[in-house]
Order: sequence, then C-alpha cells, then structure tokens
Amino acid sequence: MTDPREQLRRYLEQRRELGERELVLDHLSVDEALRIVGGARAPASHSPSEARDVRHPESQSPDDWRSALRAAGAAPATNRSEVVASPQREVPASTPEVGGRLAPSGIVVGTTSRELFGAGGPSLDSLESVAKAIATCTRCPLYSTAKNPVPGEGNPNADLMLVGEAPGATEDETGRPFVGQAGQLLEKILAAIKFTREDVFIVNVLKHRPPGNRNPRPEEVSACSPYLVRQIELIRPKVLVALGTFAAQTLLDTKLSIGKLRGQIHRYYGVPLIVTYHPAALLRNPAWKRPTWEDVQLARRILDRAVSGA
Ligand code: URA
Repeated sequence: MTDPREQLRRYLEQRRELGERELVLDHLSVDEALRIVGGARAPASHSPSEARDVRHPESQSPDDWRSALRAAGAAPATNRSEVVASPQREVPASTPEVGGRLAPSGIVVGTTSRELFGAGGPSLDSLESVAKAIATCTRCPLYSTAKNPVPGEGNPNADLMLVGEAPGATEDETGRPFVGQAGQLLEKILAAIKFTREDVFIVNVLKHRPPGNRNPRPEEVSACSPYLVRQIELIRPKVLVALGTFAAQTLLDTKLSIGKLRGQIHRYYGVPLIVTYHPAALLRNPAWKRPTWEDVQLARRILDRAVSGA
C-alpha cells in the first residue's frame, strides 16, 4: 500500500499544478502542507492569482492525508470536535493571515456533506422538494400552531446565502422570510453591498413560527436543521451570513457570543461563514449598524475574491 505521506504529497502537487493554493477546510495552504510532507518547492510561476476556489476538497481527497498530516505533528483539526477542544482554540484571538486572508479564521464545522434523514428518507434533490417536505413536516409541533411554512426564498444559484432565526408574524402570514420590519432593514443592508433580495437566498433556521415569537427550542432546531443543511448543500453559496446570535450559534454549534464570533471567517462544510447582528437587533440598537456594515463588507470581499479567483 502507498505510504499515506507519499499519497498526500502527490495529491498536493497535483492540486498545486491545477492552481489551487489553499486547503480551505484545513486552513492550511497547499505550499505549507507540502513543506510538512517534504514536497518539492513551488515553481516560480505559481502565484496567488492562479489560485482557484476549492469549495469542496473533501470530495476529491483521500481520507488518509489528514492522518498523515497529524502524524507529522502539524495538522489542524479537521472536524469540529477537534477544533473546539477549548474556547481559546475555538476562536483564536488572532490567527496568522495565510495566503492573504481577509480576516482571521474562526470555527470550522464539518468536513463532508451530511446525510439528510439517513437512508430511506425523502429524497430532497431540489429546493422545491425541500420546500414541499417542509410544507408537510411534522417533525416538531410548530407546524400545528403556524399559519404557513416559511421554507426560504431567493436565487437558487445565489453566491450569498443569509440565515436568520425563525419566521415572525408577517413571515408566518405570508410564508416568506424577512418581509416585516427586520426584512426591510435587511434589504437596505443588502443594498449597501450591491445586492437585492432577489440576488441572494434567504432562509431561517426554523421553518415554522414559534408561537408568540418565543425563542426556538433545542428539539425544534434539531428537528428542522436538516432542511437548512440540505438547502445549503443544494445552493452551495460562496458565502454564508448568519444573522444574529441564534443562527450563528446554531450553525457553528457554539455558545460563544456574537461579539466573539464577528470579524472572523468561519467555515461551514467548507463554505466561508460570516456572523453579524440580526436586523431586528439593529432596530433596537442602531449602534450596531456600523459593525454590521463592516461584516457585510467582509462578506462582499470574500465573495468578490471567490468569483474573481484572486
Ligand atoms: N426574523 C428572522 O430571524 N427571520 C425572519 O424571517 C424574520 C424575522
């Protein structure tokens, strides 16, 4: 059997030849990893501008290269349980910028696509089939008190996907996400980075309104989150924005405050994830508008870079 280090070295050299620069899920550049396993120096012609966006490297890579890296004593953790060994590791105060990063790296969640509902479950192979499944969902009791399901809406090919908490009263009435006051503010925030709501995809963690806008319960989140995961898998956005504490803590599986989670580039199954304040919170506290503006500008820059391949 081929030595895993040798296998990894070959894999990395191939990726580099293809112009890839960063092992996105592992926060390690191809060159750094090659140095660890003793690969050849990068050819002089290799430049960052040749790099391509590698959104789902796990689908191409053999599993054992991660073990090889760990054995070399230099591997970052590749799944969340390893990343969050301590709060300090979970959100490093300042992570060295690798490959011209726009912001420090944050929490990494997931390495591969999650199986929805397991084998034998409904086949949710399109956004429409996800919406249909949500419309008849009884996985938690919220369907019985809500007026309408709110599966989410927008451009199915969106580069930017926004995740809120749960439908409010107006959303429950209309079956559409973020159409109340908070939604109007969200549209202004999007306009600041030159998007309309039709350009992006907007969803919530919960697809039915909790009665009286109470906080979502953990069992409701567990019941509903497979739909969100599947929506993210189907859309494969270039950037995810978590709106507010609840969406951020749910996606990143953490209890850290929004103040600690902002300003970093987290990874959710390989997709860069930015955390910002919920528009409803901005309505209550306008002082958070400025940091929100900075957060969405960061999302925009990540997206522009991913699109241009820079
Ligand atoms: N707040 C949310 O989190 N989602 C909505 O759709 C509306 C308000």
